[in-house]
Amino acid sequence: MLLAPSLIFLLASHSLLPGVSADVISDLSGKGFTVSYPGASNYTTASQPFNFRYAYKPAVITYPTTIDQVSQIVKVAKADGYNVVARSGGHSYVANGLGGKNGSIVIDMQNFTRRAMQCQM
Ligand SMILES: Cc1cc2nc3c(=O)[nH]c(=O)nc-3n(C[C@H](O)[C@H](O)[C@H](O)COP(=O)(O)OP(=O)(O)OC[C@H]3O[C@@H](n4cnc5c(N)ncnc54)[C@H](O)[C@@H]3O)c2cc1C
Repeated sequence: MLLAPSLIFLLASHSLLPGVSADVISDLSGKGFTVSYPGASNYTTASQPFNFRYAYKPAVITYPTTIDQVSQIVKVAKADGYNVVARSGGHSYVANGLGGKNGSIVIDMQNFTRRAMQCQM
């Protein structure tokens, strides 16, 4: 069977981070939000820590735009056996927004710019 060049590149790039399977990237791709993973052109910037003492490498960094997409990411993380963390400002001293260790799935909240509150009297 012939593999498409892009798939070969995808599989080869995952060897950069042991433990990251092609399955999790496949499971998170094509769902309407941006996904970054080791080997992708945006990964170096996306995984940059605020504090360079703690330069953890996430398995995947996601940029959902809806609550439903957040839910989908959490479900994929659970099904594929990955820790999942939210990242807001990314200023945690020990890089907890990157998972605090290698190999997490990061949900970057930068697209969530509105907040709503319901008050009951
Ligand atoms: C140089 C330096 C100095 C600092 N000084 C102080 C200080 O004086 N006082 C102080 O209190 N802190 C300090 N901090 C720590 C930092 O400011 C706090 O950790 C800050 O609250 C991080 O906010 P953030 O939005 O960047 O969180 P992130 O780094 O993005 O995330 C931090 C944690 O919160 C979780 N999280 C983020 N967003 C969400 C969300 N939407 N839902 C659920 N969980 C979420 C992440 O998963 C992670 O565990 C310092 C950090 C640095 C690097």
